[in-house]
Amino acid sequence: MALTPTPEEKDTSRRVSDYFEQIRHDPLLLTVFFSAMPKGGDLHHHFSGSVYGETYWQILSDSNGWINTATAEVDTPGTEHLAPWKRFGELPRNARFDSLKQAFLRMASVKDYEESLRPSDEHFFATFTKMSFIASFGMAHGLRELKERAVSEHVQYIETQVGQLDTAIRLPENTGWEKILTAASLKDSLAVFEILDKARATLLERGVSGAVDNFLHRLERLHYQANVDDSTFMLRYHLAASRSDAPLDVYRRLLLAFEAVDRGSLVVGVNLLKPEDGEVSMRDYRLHMLMFAQLSRLYPGVPYSLHAGELAMGMVRPEQLRTHITDAVMTAGARRIGHGVSVAYETACNALLDTMARRKIPVEINLSSNEFILKIKDEQHPVLLYHARQVPVVISTDDAGVLRTDLTRQYVLLAARYPSLRYADIKQMIRNSIQYSFIRPAAVKNQQQQRLDAALARFEEQVLRTHRLIKK
Ligand SMILES: [Zn+2]
Repeated sequence: MALTPTPEEKDTSRRVSDYFEQIRHDPLLLTVFFSAMPKGGDLHHHFSGSVYGETYWQILSDSNGWINTATAEVDTPGTEHLAPWKRFGELPRNARFDSLKQAFLRMASVKDYEESLRPSDEHFFATFTKMSFIASFGMAHGLRELKERAVSEHVQYIETQVGQLDTAIRLPENTGWEKILTAASLKDSLAVFEILDKARATLLERGVSGAVDNFLHRLERLHYQANVDDSTFMLRYHLAASRSDAPLDVYRRLLLAFEAVDRGSLVVGVNLLKPEDGEVSMRDYRLHMLMFAQLSRLYPGVPYSLHAGELAMGMVRPEQLRTHITDAVMTAGARRIGHGVSVAYETACNALLDTMARRKIPVEINLSSNEFILKIKDEQHPVLLYHARQVPVVISTDDAGVLRTDLTRQYVLLAARYPSLRYADIKQMIRNSIQYSFIRPAAVKNQQQQRLDAALARFEEQVLRTHRLIKK
């Protein structure tokens, strides 16, 4: 924990705060300010969406991958294709090459996005399907990009969601479990837990632990070979399940993820992926929450953050905006909430906010992402509601590559849009990003907190020196 600030430190912070108020309506000066400000961690983003399209292009070019010269679709070098596909090496570097690259960047991100051609949520989520195979193929390259960007914008820690782990091990067919699960999920939690206990015992008997060990072994080798961690930077992973899959597929993936975190590995958290308003996601939402409840009894030390309330009025029926965040907190026991945008529509909104404040369950706020996907920004966004009700807030990117943004930009938007947030509030949000991270053991988290506090103190001194605000 931080030491109580000395009177000099308090005075320094106050002067920086005064300067901050002077520049807060100037987006360029805010950019200079937040670029240099140590920002702790980025706790919410997806690996394949955080790598920029230019990097994917480079990975394909370096490995002599494939490109469809008519559509700008791409493929890794291992497969064979016919015309109009060409190897990167066969393409002359001319204007046609440049325009293919631009078409590819538009496909990989929001670059030059044209709303009339495709809904923004569809465009956003489609990038994951299109890019994730290049992300796994060139993972070391992607990790280096994330690290370089983090270090250059004074981010010391990242928790990145790398998607789902799978194994060939399956549950027996014709058990009827899936049917019972779907039917029981809304009224009989005990019946759900009973089936899930059986499913887990069967998967463990059939050897899923070995699959987890193999995956972790590969991940560790890659992580250390790519020199991701050093004295300035640390990166950890989340594994997830896709909420659009069939119930027992979701459960299998969650079990693998819980097992991976339980090993004390580089994987420190579990999550759920895919649009929350999808047909299956909506139908099975409560069932998924019960899966987390069951797994958390068996793996009490495994933390998870859940995407919940990444919804807006009009995307679903109003009745479907009433319970997701409450269920993620109360039923599933989420340690953090991703997005939480639709909180004001929750039936138990007040009780929920009180619980989040009391249990210190932070909300991961993603301003650019919510603006692009949900069309929610400014006073429609609940960041101030959470803050006013003393729910810890963390600021994250979700996702820098797709949205062509960075963490600095998220703080600039926060400061510019919400003038009632003072410098001290924003500094606290930055400190929250380490405090509520899933870094372990506690001693390592402590070191990271001390590093951040020391870096913030140096930053404040630097601001005062640069702007000659030191009292002499
Ligand atoms: Zn997300």
